[in-house]
Amino acid sequence: MEQQFNYHVTLHKDNTYSLAVSIDQGYMLPEDFVLVAELAKKHNVGKMMLTTEKKVSFMDVAAEEVNPLWADLQETFGERICNPKGKITVCPGSMYCKFAMAGLDNHAMGRKIEEVSKKHNAGKVKVGVSCCPRNCAMSQIKDIGVSANVKGWVVTVGGNAGMIAKVGEKLADGLNDDELLALLDKVYQYIEENKKDNERTNKTIARLGIEHLKAAVL
Ligand code: SF4
Repeated sequence: MEQQFNYHVTLHKDNTYSLAVSIDQGYMLPEDFVLVAELAKKHNVGKMMLTTEKKVSFMDVAAEEVNPLWADLQETFGERICNPKGKITVCPGSMYCKFAMAGLDNHAMGRKIEEVSKKHNAGKVKVGVSCCPRNCAMSQIKDIGVSANVKGWVVTVGGNAGMIAKVGEKLADGLNDDELLALLDKVYQYIEENKKDNERTNKTIARLGIEHLKAAVL
């Protein structure tokens, strides 16, 4: 029988679980990898995986080890760790990449968007924050896509990489930091008010139409 946890885990077909965590948005120190490996061994984790969203996934975790593992991870990494259902992924961009648009900081912006998302109960909303039009955070196939060009931030909505792949539709461009955060606040609010149960954002937008969203947030 599936055990209930008050954080996000996935039940495997052999009744073990996987727990995926994000540490500093995936940009970890070498010693962080040593720590997560030690905790994995302590809790008899069968396999580990680094996900496309830069999360560390502990797999094949026995049901009775899930809570102790999560408690140890929180104690070890404190505020640096989170267990996101809808992940905010940032490309190497402003910290590492020569193509990053000057004057825009997608790592700081990712953290600010996370704070905005916490104000809402919008469910599983995946966000990509790329610092140039190359979109290495796969922004265009996220529920909310943020990318950058010479004019500022660009926002797309309704992208999806699931069973029916879809590129998101452009909502706005040329935004500065404050304008972007204000718009995303409204988009999260819109999703919260309009989604049905666990409906994903692209399905909500397909059901109501992009003009309905634009009328509410622009
Ligand atoms: S999206 Fe642009 S800035 Fe970000 S890693 Fe890719 S090339 Fe670099």
